[in-house]
Amino acid sequence: MINAVTDNRRKHRIVVLGGGFGGVYAAIHLEKLLARVEMVEICLVSRDNFFLFTPMLHEIAASDLEITNIVNPLRKLLRKVEVLVGDVNEIDLPNKQVLISHGYRNHSLRIDYDHLVIAFYPIHTKKDSAADTACGNAAG
Ligand SMILES: Cc1cc2nc3c(=O)[nH]c(=O)nc-3n(C[C@H](O)[C@H](O)[C@H](O)COP(=O)(O)OP(=O)(O)OC[C@H]3O[C@@H](n4cnc5c(N)ncnc54)[C@H](O)[C@@H]3O)c2cc1C
Repeated sequence: MINAVTDNRRKHRIVVLGGGFGGVYAAIHLEKLLARVEMVEICLVSRDNFFLFTPMLHEIAASDLEITNIVNPLRKLLRKVEVLVGDVNEIDLPNKQVLISHGYRNHSLRIDYDHLVIAFYPIHTKKDSAADTACGNAAG
């Protein structure tokens, strides 16, 4: 899985950041749209390996449903997308690279991209985190 995104490639790569509603639906759409285009690969990076259907979260709190009813593994939803579970730490817009850390030892990895979809906002993280930096760079 990791090798697939660090290998000497030269397919056109679309990287989607975030495995929530925005990221997953963008990836599903791209997967369908580009199903017959061999020279394109899609990679989704998210810190969780599952998609959480938040509108039914209150039913879990009320014990009306089991959590397994509203959680879906990303790799099951996205059959042709490389799913990479990790934290996005930096988005280097000029060099078209994303720096992520993953795994038990927080191994760092740089991923090249041709097109980037940013589908998260760091509401639960520190102020100067990845999306803030990227938005700042893009604005500046
Ligand atoms: C209890 C509850 C009920 C809701 N009900 C409704 C409803 O009925 N209707 C409605 O329209 N909306 C509802 N919402 C709001 C809805 O869930 C959000 O609007 C929606 O999830 C936003 O989608 P998103 O893709 O922008 O972000 P998110 O769903 O927050 O997804 C962001 C993803 O990016 C990942 N991520 C974030 N930072 C990083 C990072 N640095 N590195 C790697 N991954 C990262 C996160 O783990 C997450 O998977 C509800 C929300 C809650 C909490």
